Parts: sequence; structure tokens; C-alpha cells
Amino acid sequence: TKKILLDSRPEGTPDSSNFKFETESVPEIKDGELLLKTEYVSVDPYLRGRMSDAKSYIPPFEVNKPITSVMIAEVLESNHDKFSKGDHVTGMMAWKELQVSDGKGFRKVDPEKAPLSAYLGILGMTGLTAYLGLTEIGKPKEGETMVVSGAAGAVGSTVGQIGKILGLRVVGIAGTDEKVEMIKNEFGFDEGINYNTTENMTEAIKKACPDGVDVYFDNVGGEISDAVLFNINKFSRTVVCGAISVYNETSLPKSVSVQPFLIKNSSLMQGFVISDFEDKHPEGVQQLATWLQEGKLKYTETIREGFDHIPQAFLDLFEGKNKGKMVVKV
Ligand code: NDP
Repeated sequence: TKKILLDSRPEGTPDSSNFKFETESVPEIKDGELLLKTEYVSVDPYLRGRMSDAKSYIPPFEVNKPITSVMIAEVLESNHDKFSKGDHVTGMMAWKELQVSDGKGFRKVDPEKAPLSAYLGILGMTGLTAYLGLTEIGKPKEGETMVVSGAAGAVGSTVGQIGKILGLRVVGIAGTDEKVEMIKNEFGFDEGINYNTTENMTEAIKKACPDGVDVYFDNVGGEISDAVLFNINKFSRTVVCGAISVYNETSLPKSVSVQPFLIKNSSLMQGFVISDFEDKHPEGVQQLATWLQEGKLKYTETIREGFDHIPQAFLDLFEGKNKGKMVVKV
């Protein structure tokens, strides 16, 4: 059975040479253990951080050890009192076709209630990040204007829709015209801006937000964020969710000082990691599931097929090749 290890730490943009495939035989399960068969693998931008050895909120991957991410697996055999053969479980697992686990931190997911892949996206970390980041930090009020960067991605497309549910004017920023059309036509954003074809982002945002920006949900950082911050309103809130545009940088960029804009606007900027709101996860999932059921919330996925394609699916996140949540079906 196959597994994928970290072969080397990337410098700058990661590529396929940072990963290596190996095979192993699968041991017998002992008492309290499960044999799991991988079904779906979540690939996420934050895994880039774990490929480096810099100190972070989550420990780095080790060279020559399997990469891990949140996955969905079927229980093939169980000596565990919480899980039975045939159950589908989710949790942090290794990039292996088959693996033995003690089931720690896993929970069952029900394929009758939602497609299994949805538990990696809208009903998983993606949905919670969008919902709790926006409500806990963005604190939106009806009638306000919100800008979302990375708007056609997994988190961004969800944040925009939640913004609409909560009565905001929502402007999204994404990398292609097709994505801009998608966020407007399928996800109900009021306006969209293609940052790859727009020369003056600061002006484009000003035009799309005639009343200024009250909430900025930031997935990308860098120059796109500077342009948004030049347009913020008094008492505005910036939710610093991600900074994908700088994850592959090897040197610190020359600072564009946004502080004067924060000062004169008494504006709040706050980062977070989704585990900060652990106590609110159950209520968050409940709310997301309700909106899904009511048809108020939609989601899209880019599903790649085959275990061998996991590293490429991850690498493609940095090329914007996904719409919505990138998932690999094994
Ligand atoms: P996405 O589905 O948004 O995929 C990544 C997207 O980022 C791509 O599709 C691409 O879209 C865009 N992108 C890639 N490179 C750049 C660049 N250089 N400049 C601007 N945009 C770029 O991923 P997720 O929804 O999973 O994650 C979105 C962000 O949220 C990430 O930064 C991630 O790290 C963060 N995150 C944070 C969490 C937290 O707890 N704080 C939890 C989960 C995610 P395009 O074609 O538009 O460029």
C-alpha cells in the first residue's frame, strides 16, 4: 500500500520533488485500533507552512515522515469500541492508502446527511473558518460593505454567501474572469474584481465600494490587501484569515505601512486560527448545515481523482487551479 512522505523542505514555491511515494505493508490491528481505507483527502494552503521548519501554531512535518491532513476514511476493520466496520470517519490522518489508527480525535460522518467530501469543506474546517472568522471577528452589521479576497476559493466563496445571508453588500476579489462570474452568478456576490487584469486595485475597490469597506475578510495578504486597506471605513474590521500570496516568499517584503489607515479609522485587524473557537464548532456546523438545507448556502468543489494526484492537487492551490474546496478522491 502507498504512502506519501515529505522528501525535502521547499525553498519558495513547493514542487513535486518535495514529496516522495513509498510502499509499506499494513500491520495487523491491535486492541483499540482501526484499519482505515482513505476515501477523501483535504489539501489546504496551510500545509505549506508545515513543510517549513519555522515555528508556528502547529508543528512542522518531519522529513521522511508521511504528510498529514484532514481526511475521510472507511473503517475496514475495528477493534475499537467507538467505531465499527463500515463507518466513515474524519480526522487528521497520514497520506496513506491504508493505515492503522487508535481513532484519537476522529468522529463519525454520515454519508446519508451530506456527501462525504462536504465534511472536508463546507461542514468542516472551511465552513467553520468562514462562519466563525466572519461572525466572531468581522462582527458584521446589516447594510455594511464587506470585501473578501480569495473569493472563489473554499473559505472565500462561503464567507461571501454568509455575508449576503447577514445582509451585507459583498465584493469579491479573485484571479480569473470565470471565477468573478461564478461568485456573482452562483454565489450572489454583488461585485467581483479580477486582480490579475485590474491595473489599479485601490481604485477598483473604491469604485466597487462607494460607501467604503466596513469588513475585510482577508485570505491572501500582500498587495491585494494593501489596496483594500486603503479603502477602509471608520471602525472597520479586518479578519486576517490567510495570506496565501506570501506563503512562498523567501524574503520579507518591503513594508507598505497600513498602520496610518488603521489609526485614522480606529480600525481593528485580527488574525485567528480556527482552533481558537473550538467551543463554538458544534454550533457553527449546526448553523452551516441548516443554511445548506434551506438552500441559502451553496458550495462548489474541485475534486481530483487518485491517490497519486494528492501532491499536485496541493501544488495547484498556489496556481489558483481550484474553484471552491480542493479535495482528492482516492
Ligand atoms: P482556497 O480554496 O481559497 O485556495 C487557494 C486560492 O488562493 C487559489 O484558488 C487562488 O485563487 C488563491 N491564490 C493563490 N495564490 C495567490 C496569490 N499569490 N495571490 C492571491 N491569491 C492567490 O483555499 P482555502 O479556502 O482552503 O484557504 C483560503 C485562505 O484561508 C488561505 O490563505 C488559508 O491559509 C486560510 N485559512 C485559514 C484558516 C485559519 O484558521 N485561519 C483555516 C483555513 C484556511 P485565485 O485564482 O483567485 O488567485
